[in-house]
Amino acid sequence: MSAEVHEFQVEARQLLQLMIHSIYSNKDVFLRELISNASDALDKLRLQALRNDALGADVSDLHIALEADAQARTLTVRDNGVGMSRDEVVALIGTIASSGTAKLLKELKDTKDADAAAGLIGQFGVGFYSAFMVADEVTVVTRRAGESQGTRWTSRGEGTYSVESVGKAPQGTAVTLHLKPVDAENQMHDYTDGWKLREIVKRYSDFITWPIRMPAHATTPADMDSGSGAESSEPAEAALETVNSMKALWARSREEVTEEEYHELYKHLAHDWLDPLETVRLQAEGTFEYQALLFIPSHAPHDLFTRDHRRGLQLYVKRVHIMDDCEELLPPYLRFVKGVVDSQDLSLNVSREILQQDRQIQMIHRRLTKKVLATIKDLMTSAPDRYATVWREFGPALKEGLLGDDGNRDTLLGLCSFASTHEADEPATLAQYVERMKDGQEEIYYLTGDSREAVENSPHMEAFRAKGIEVLLLTDPVDEIWVTTVPAFDGKQLRSVAKGTVDLEAGEQDAQTDSDRESRQKEYTDLLAWMTGVLTEDVKEVRLSTRLTVSPACLVSDTHDITPALENMYRAMGQ
Ligand code: ADP
Ligand code: MG
Repeated sequence: MSAEVHEFQVEARQLLQLMIHSIYSNKDVFLRELISNASDALDKLRLQALRNDALGADVSDLHIALEADAQARTLTVRDNGVGMSRDEVVALIGTIASSGTAKLLKELKDTKDADAAAGLIGQFGVGFYSAFMVADEVTVVTRRAGESQGTRWTSRGEGTYSVESVGKAPQGTAVTLHLKPVDAENQMHDYTDGWKLREIVKRYSDFITWPIRMPAHATTPADMDSGSGAESSEPAEAALETVNSMKALWARSREEVTEEEYHELYKHLAHDWLDPLETVRLQAEGTFEYQALLFIPSHAPHDLFTRDHRRGLQLYVKRVHIMDDCEELLPPYLRFVKGVVDSQDLSLNVSREILQQDRQIQMIHRRLTKKVLATIKDLMTSAPDRYATVWREFGPALKEGLLGDDGNRDTLLGLCSFASTHEADEPATLAQYVERMKDGQEEIYYLTGDSREAVENSPHMEAFRAKGIEVLLLTDPVDEIWVTTVPAFDGKQLRSVAKGTVDLEAGEQDAQTDSDRESRQKEYTDLLAWMTGVLTEDVKEVRLSTRLTVSPACLVSDTHDITPALENMYRAMGQ
């Protein structure tokens, strides 16, 4: 079949432009990305072969190979993993599935600040495209395991790529980069240099559990003069060596592993370019043995609240990778946590169905949940700025835990912080709120709404503002729901300032007396009766209020009614 020329999808093209004119100064990371993809492809093939005897794939020597050719100025990253079909190549490499990418690209365009731009580009997790940071042409030859035809994909990264079917291709994927000229000033190193490649593999990919092989003797200038080594373009002829240690970081003692190594593992697992905020290690010994290495990312992925979001941890059994996205290990509200759990006691052919019933998995689930929550709790005092980041990025997800996880509800409530009328820019924890409560105040007041502005300008706030009573301002969609399920914090009920009768007079010396109230009630009886009549279709009751100081009237729900925003949400969900 002849070569077809395709156009990159718009977002993909924009992203490629960014890569080519690399805002990302550290070009070395392209190799980390290609090795990470190769490793994923090997994981996938091993799992598929386990489940399907008839796959017809060769899984006898799964590995990654780096092949450099200094004369041709090419570098090939090869794996004999799962490979891609022709359709997959077009779908996976020509387009960007993530819906958040367009939004991020726009943000990036509007950013003048170079550091902020570098931070933003890190959020793309541009894996494969990072090849274009160092290459002016990239060729992918791939064959899906079990299929007979291969596919060849080529692009210069400038808007189009070509695809053609090829009869003969080894199983797996070979990505060949035609390297740009060396330009040390712009960090464009010689990526055909074996020592440079080793250095990069050691730094970024040492923990990869598949062997990464290279010719045993790296090409040196002396070799080139004598015509040996570099001349040999047949990698099979040269002795190969494995350059990564393949040691699982979670199996090594804590002192042995550097923070940078943990961070690189995180980037591989999470497909993230930024360091994680926090690394959490856990080792369980005794009758049921496992290790866990968890990471709290430093930013939320843009699909955290969509179905597309990949959730769950990687599950290993005795160092063997068993499953990606294992959702049974953490509750859904901790879906932003990435990492690995390695169990010594599970069976190697454990299935999802078994996991859902497994008591040991349930134990791990409980323990990991507590550990993650405890880690965040610690940050509140030990590193408030980090806690603030966690809360900003993942607070809305964490609050979902208030809906279902009764066992951890109090811990979760202790972790929450909310915008408050106490100080405009300083979120308040519930403990802080309770400490500041006025004498005689029995309840924790809050108001929910669509935006900060809307709640701050609500007439419901007037009396509270006038009396200097703090109100929590809850503007996440999930806030509407959890406030109805959480009965109290520290014995204090949560109470919406927009619901029922709010008694602001309690405990005040100069409180309006009952007779006062009665006489006002009498004075307005006719008016109230008339209004109730006129508005009978729309409201349950019209009554006098002490909650307003400026506005003449406001709408109030009964304590147990759903709020207007929740009503909208249910309606949107078709209920
Ligand atoms: P990510 O790894 O985050 O999914 P990438 O841009 O790195 O994003 O890769 C895009 C997709 O292309 C991968 O998800 C995978 O499906 C496919 N892919 C890339 N490299 C390989 C490879 N070596 N073997 C098989 N599939 C690959
Ligand atoms: Mg990738």
